[in-house]
Amino acid sequence: MADFGTDLEVETFRTEARNWLEANFPQSLRGATGIANALMDGPAPTGDIQLWKERMGAKGWGTPTWPAQYGGGGLSAQQARVLQQEMSRIGAFNPLMAGMGVTMIGPTILDYGTEEQKQKHIPPIVRGDVRWCVGYSEPNAGSDLASLQMKCEDAGDHWVVNGQKIWTSGAQYSDWCGCLVRTDPTAKKHDGITFLLVDMHQPGIETRPIALIAGASPFCETFFTDARAESDAVLGKLNNGWTVGKRLLQHERASQTGAPSGGGARGTPLPDMAKAAVGVDADGRLSDLDLRTRLSRHQMDAKAHGLTLARAAAEARGSSSPSNAASVLKNSATVVAQTRAELTLEIMGYGGLGWGGEGFTQDQIDAVRGWLSGKAMSIYGGSVEIQNNIISKRILGLPDTTAST
Ligand SMILES: Cc1cc2nc3c(=O)[nH]c(=O)nc-3n(C[C@H](O)[C@H](O)[C@H](O)COP(=O)(O)OP(=O)(O)OC[C@H]3O[C@@H](n4cnc5c(N)ncnc54)[C@H](O)[C@@H]3O)c2cc1C
Repeated sequence: MADFGTDLEVETFRTEARNWLEANFPQSLRGATGIANALMDGPAPTGDIQLWKERMGAKGWGTPTWPAQYGGGGLSAQQARVLQQEMSRIGAFNPLMAGMGVTMIGPTILDYGTEEQKQKHIPPIVRGDVRWCVGYSEPNAGSDLASLQMKCEDAGDHWVVNGQKIWTSGAQYSDWCGCLVRTDPTAKKHDGITFLLVDMHQPGIETRPIALIAGASPFCETFFTDARAESDAVLGKLNNGWTVGKRLLQHERASQTGAPSGGGARGTPLPDMAKAAVGVDADGRLSDLDLRTRLSRHQMDAKAHGLTLARAAAEARGSSSPSNAASVLKNSATVVAQTRAELTLEIMGYGGLGWGGEGFTQDQIDAVRGWLSGKAMSIYGGSVEIQNNIISKRILGLPDTTAST
């Protein structure tokens, strides 16, 4: 990667990015809200969203720091930050975020894949032609993931997979699944696990969507019955899947460190929402002292989280590799996001009870559903308690008192 950092280089790239985005981000999508979330959890996009996806995919800017030889943007971390700033400026979102390809599976293939696996799997992820899910959790293996039992046997020229996964996000829409499977049942529980790349389009795989509290069904029970994986489907070494699997989790957590800033419902700053709902005192301050205190504390937490995120990025010296610091940031992002959702609902008063029907605005309904779906943030990608275990063991060096992380 060429050195990139003088003010002139940054501003030259900023101009290039700004011009390209102005020319290519469809007018119809400007100011639209909620599309990025709908893309993550829903079926394939259509219309201008699909057009935007094709343009970003061809440019490689949905995966800005991935190598250009596989279709990625080939940008430095600093250029990618400039691109993100320019996208935020006009409200553009990354349309390649459906499924787990860009955030988790792709980076892990880049870390551990053979050259053939990179050439086969990375370009379709860059273009958004395929969608991936992650098959880790099982009914008896969540936090204690190494207890997983899904069986994978060598059939000579291919692998045969039997068992069940659960909470598989987007499995019903996915073309491929990155799974952890047990290839050596006689080995110790963290050994004998292999990371397998499985084609979802086959009769041996059945997905059953599970309804969530927020009303959607973004994840599934996934059943494998004599499902087939090709002989080149092992990512990393056979029986070394625990190492590969942990790497994917670091990438997952790194992608979950952002927290919403500024707005409550429809981007209106929370203090403004609160002042409109509760009123102000003679000095123009929010009249409810208790709410004012909690809002101030939240604003400080959000600011501290944002600054820590920026510091971690600066300390990584431009490297886009994740580290255990992602566990700290995932936990603080969770607190900020969930507190913001709670405060938004509280400020909305009666509107914060909206679930559907004509008595509520779409903003109110979205806020309630967002508050409910946000509860999952302290569970997925490893729960808050599991991140705390990782922080104590791998960052603080405290004694290991669990066998699960
Ligand atoms: C919205 C959503 C999407 C998800 N998507 C996927 C996906 O795509 N693919 C996938 O494989 N999985 C997915 N998951 C599953 C997720 O990874 C697990 O739910 C999570 O790891 C917790 O496992 P569990 O549900 O079995 O809870 P458990 O492991 O049973 O934990 C129950 C409680 O006990 C606590 N606990 C457990 N062990 C410890 C310990 N050692 N120390 C302290 N506390 C502990 C936990 O923190 C938690 O509070 C998703 C989950 C959600 C909610």
